[in-house]
Amino acid sequence: MKESEAGVAVSIATEYVPVRRLLGRNPGPMTGPGTNSYLIGKQRLSLVDPGPRDEAQLQSFLEAIGDATLENILITHTHADHSPGALALHEATGARLIGLKAPDVAGHDKTFVPDRLFSDEDIVDCGEYKIQLIATPGHVSNHICFLLRDEQLLFTGDHVLQGTTPVILPPDGDMAAYLEALERLLTIPLKLLAPAHGDVMFQPYAEIEKLIAHRLKREQKVLAGLDSLGACSLDELVVTVYDDVSPQLIPWAKKTLMAHLIKLQQEGRVSEDNELWQAQQ
Ligand SMILES: [Zn+2]
Repeated sequence: MKESEAGVAVSIATEYVPVRRLLGRNPGPMTGPGTNSYLIGKQRLSLVDPGPRDEAQLQSFLEAIGDATLENILITHTHADHSPGALALHEATGARLIGLKAPDVAGHDKTFVPDRLFSDEDIVDCGEYKIQLIATPGHVSNHICFLLRDEQLLFTGDHVLQGTTPVILPPDGDMAAYLEALERLLTIPLKLLAPAHGDVMFQPYAEIEKLIAHRLKREQKVLAGLDSLGACSLDELVVTVYDDVSPQLIPWAKKTLMAHLIKLQQEGRVSEDNELWQAQQ
């Protein structure tokens, strides 16, 4: 992402349907260089993840849209760095709002209200191209990836990121669902992954398999940690299992650790009593 400048539309390597990426004006520890928004099509456009509400970024979108028509705003999920910009863009262009409504938990943008109820495998026909919704719960329950079928290009939101791994946020986020949703992507013809943070990835299956392996390795580390520590609290366990992350990320690691423990508990491999976790023999 070295050459990207916030708000400037940069074409990505597609064959038939033009796709441009606009980097958000929101770099930070959780967003990396910023949120990527993607503008799809020639005349009948769709935009993936407008990001936070930001007047300058809205102007950048309108400039990039130019004389074409924005028909759809596609929202991968309702975190603050993905969906809050949708409403102002909808008001400025009349584009439809597509995605799943926010779950009833903290940390989600409740201003995003989709135009109708959408569900897994729905197809949005834009004339020039078609986009298929792929439900990918895990990071959060209302996460959707968007498949541009003509290009076998998947807009992955926070489901698959470049350069980092997504946090899983229970109780709304779900590790078992996350792994299942990753496995499912391996059955879909894909050439490119376009994430919400980081660069486009050209080896989709290798990236997805790497992510699955990373999660399973971490799961092994959870079991090994419980083996060596015996019954222990989340705070004790997290420093053993996440000995490779920087201290300021430990609060986030704790959430993903909890997601691992919930999955293992459902599988009957660990148990919890009075906030102390231990392996089941
Ligand atoms: Zn997110």
